[in-house]
Amino acid sequence: MRSIASRMSVMSGEGALSVFARAKELEAQGHSIIHLELGEPDFHPGQSVIDSAVQALRDGKDRYCNVIGVAALRQEIVAYLKRTRSIDVEAENIVIAPGCKIALFQSMMALLNPEDEVLYPDPGFPGYASISLGLGAVPVPFTLSAKNKLQPDPDEVARKITPRTRMLLTNSPGNPTGTVYTDEVQRALAELAVKHDLWVLSDEIYARIIYGGEYMSMLRYPGMKERTLIIDGFSKSFAMTGWRLGYTIAPPEVVPALNLMVVNTYTCVAEFTQYGAIDALRDREGNTPRMVAEFARRREQFARDLNRVPGFRIMLPEGAFYAWVDITGTGISAEELCRILLEDAGVAAIPGAAFGPAGKDFIRFSFASSTATLKEAVERIQKVSSAWQATPVR
Ligand code: PLP
Repeated sequence: MRSIASRMSVMSGEGALSVFARAKELEAQGHSIIHLELGEPDFHPGQSVIDSAVQALRDGKDRYCNVIGVAALRQEIVAYLKRTRSIDVEAENIVIAPGCKIALFQSMMALLNPEDEVLYPDPGFPGYASISLGLGAVPVPFTLSAKNKLQPDPDEVARKITPRTRMLLTNSPGNPTGTVYTDEVQRALAELAVKHDLWVLSDEIYARIIYGGEYMSMLRYPGMKERTLIIDGFSKSFAMTGWRLGYTIAPPEVVPALNLMVVNTYTCVAEFTQYGAIDALRDREGNTPRMVAEFARRREQFARDLNRVPGFRIMLPEGAFYAWVDITGTGISAEELCRILLEDAGVAAIPGAAFGPAGKDFIRFSFASSTATLKEAVERIQKVSSAWQATPVR
């Protein structure tokens, strides 16, 4: 009998993409929409990145290439992580992937058996639970609650560890909350991982987008080197979403499994894009710091303006480019609120439950848009705010 495999029925889509689809429909009908739903920088990579990729194409670098990635790119990642994150990794333990999502998928497929439990942040990137379920594993959420300043609570994580727990997933700075895990929290999580001999999958895709302080990779904590896989890529830090480039840094014994996954799926990542990526990592034009400085300005303005909307409350995010707004004060559900914002105000945002049950009283805006656009978005929201009854937070 012809049927779709049962694993597909337990996987889920992404709230951002379904809001985007409806927003596009409205646009096609002539409505003006401000897109604050997708996690995509409104920047492009610098000219030298594009030139390097074009030159690589001209040089004939359009063949099948090294399965785990071009050696020169893996070498450059070693230097980049040393410079920007103070960590020492080896080029032979880096596997290039077409985006972080596939890197996550690959790592989880390589390490998880059916019924293994995966601890992951709720709210969190939708793929964490969906991929776990698709692999027959059991996603076990730990909560990032407002009363805990959206930080993981290591005591809660400890309580949720069972003999079946195989993996601890961390994401700092986090999507959708913008939380940068404190040193104390990361140290405690690392200790738990050592004590219970867990794999740590550290999604560090937003590592460069922080608004103060030094970034602490999970790899910097005692006992982490042999159990941690770092996921990072070019979509966010280098504004290269459409290039589809990411990588995993894995302990040596995991690399052959990742290699096998590549061989059985995408064979290799497009060679010429990898030459562009080398240039991006060198960042001679200072594109990343310039973009982050601009995000910092938007963050201040947008958070201040959103806090003036009746019923909205937002903590200043410490990293990434998302405003995670507590909307309890509006007295209506996040789904209804997002519907009003999209249909009546023409502002696309995502209901928090799209990131897990703990997000149900929140909505997420991306602030990867110009300050003028963000201002206009809040003006539009203010205009429709009479639709919900509440008193201004301040
Ligand atoms: N991890 C997190 C936390 C993300 O927010 C995203 C993208 O939104 C990804 C992974 C996937 O990124 P990529 O574009 O590299 O597949």
